[in-house]
Amino acid sequence: MLTPWKDFPLTDFSTIGVSSCLLGEQVRYDGGHKHDRYITDNLGRWFNLLPVCPEVGCGLPVPRDSMRLEGDPAAPRLVTRNSRMDRTDRMQAFCHAKVVELESEELCGFIFKKDSPSSGLFRVKIYHDGIATKNSTGLFAAAMARHFPLLPMEEEGRLNDPDLRENFIERLFCYRRWKIFLTSGPTVGRLVEFHAGHKLLMMAHSPAIYRATGTLVANGGNLPLPELLKSYEELFMNGLAQHTTPGKNADVLRHMMGYFKKELTTGEKAELLEVIKGYHDGLTPLVAPLTLLRHYVRKYDQQYLLGQIYLSPYPAELMLHLEPKLTPLALPRLHRHSAADPRQQGGILMKRREKIDQTDPAVQEA
Ligand code: SF4
Repeated sequence: MLTPWKDFPLTDFSTIGVSSCLLGEQVRYDGGHKHDRYITDNLGRWFNLLPVCPEVGCGLPVPRDSMRLEGDPAAPRLVTRNSRMDRTDRMQAFCHAKVVELESEELCGFIFKKDSPSSGLFRVKIYHDGIATKNSTGLFAAAMARHFPLLPMEEEGRLNDPDLRENFIERLFCYRRWKIFLTSGPTVGRLVEFHAGHKLLMMAHSPAIYRATGTLVANGGNLPLPELLKSYEELFMNGLAQHTTPGKNADVLRHMMGYFKKELTTGEKAELLEVIKGYHDGLTPLVAPLTLLRHYVRKYDQQYLLGQIYLSPYPAELMLHLEPKLTPLALPRLHRHSAADPRQQGGILMKRREKIDQTDPAVQEA
């Protein structure tokens, strides 16, 4: 029998909102655009892309005087740079109406243009007494985050980072499955089924939230269904927002191995443990142990694991899981194997890791 949240056709498009200029629309203050090919050429194959430009949407012309945020970071004002016009009220009126309008789109996510005083989600510049600090949020992005607190959201610049991109795309597809589940006649029994399919994925993101969702679902019959679904959605999406790590993934991979340890030959066991260790040490990408596990799951017809979303959380064509994760163990080896300048290679890799940890509010577990 088909399970609606799992067996929907991948061509059954859901929608993600995108800042219009990232889709190539010439709506920027200077009449230009910031077309992002990864979004249109890759994500556009799996999702409808809904353009939103809050500045044009609130009635400003193209081209226009550029704007910046000023004042108190808790209540920023949107002000034009040259003519010193305050556009805050006009923008807030647009935001209030737009978020309500977007409810009917059943969005699965939103990608914002970084640095924009209207659309930037993280570390947008705000000026106070002539000094700029990067700690604010564009007015429209802030309104979206308030109205849709569980909706997966990212900035296009951060999607260049493999860890952040993978986490975002995984959440897009999980939210899409959750939305389909909600529209297909949810019951406590069906929630148990949905939860069972996502167990290992949850475990890889947050063992603590994995346990909390398990307890919630086990006691689901004691709660009114709407309350149960709301609580589950919060835990589910907040858990997925926590990043996986090589340590957490390796734990899940070894846990999976336990399901057919009796069937595996000594040689198969040794090979699998070695591949998992190679991933854990940062020498191979996650796709290596996952591919081997998928093979054994099919070979030994392990029904429980066959139903785990963890094994294929999104279409393989999106080509994620292809970079080794960086771990302290991996770095000295990368130094040795780098053809050009090993110290520089390690330095660049370290910087990338540090940058993520400093800038990403979602990185909560090392
Ligand atoms: S307001 Fe947002 S969508 Fe419009 S041009 Fe600026 S960054 Fe792009």
